[in-house]
Amino acid sequence: MGKWEKTINEYRKQIIEESSKCLYCGAKERLTIDHIVPVATLSRMGIGKFEAFALKHNFAIVCKKCNVEKNDKIFIRLPEVKKALMEIIEVFG
Ligand SMILES: [Zn+2]
Repeated sequence: MGKWEKTINEYRKQIIEESSKCLYCGAKERLTIDHIVPVATLSRMGIGKFEAFALKHNFAIVCKKCNVEKNDKIFIRLPEVKKALMEIIEVFG
C-alpha cells in the first residue's frame, strides 16, 4: 500500500466515524463515501484522480440512494460543498 492510499484509507475511516448520517438526506443506513465534486468533474478541471484524493473536504458521507440520484450534480448551497470548493481553489487555483 502506497503512502497516499494509507492516508486516504485513514481519512476514510475517520470520516465514517465522525459522520453517522447522509449529508444530503440525513439517512443513517447504507452509507457510502462520495466525492462532493465528482472525480469526472475534477478531471475536466485538470485535476487528476490521485490529486483529487488530496482534497480532504471533498469526501462526504452519503447514503446509497442519494449517491445514485446525485450523479454529477453539485449542491452548491450546502456549507460542506462550499468548503470542498474552497479547498479545490486553495490547492489547485
Ligand atoms: Zn441520502
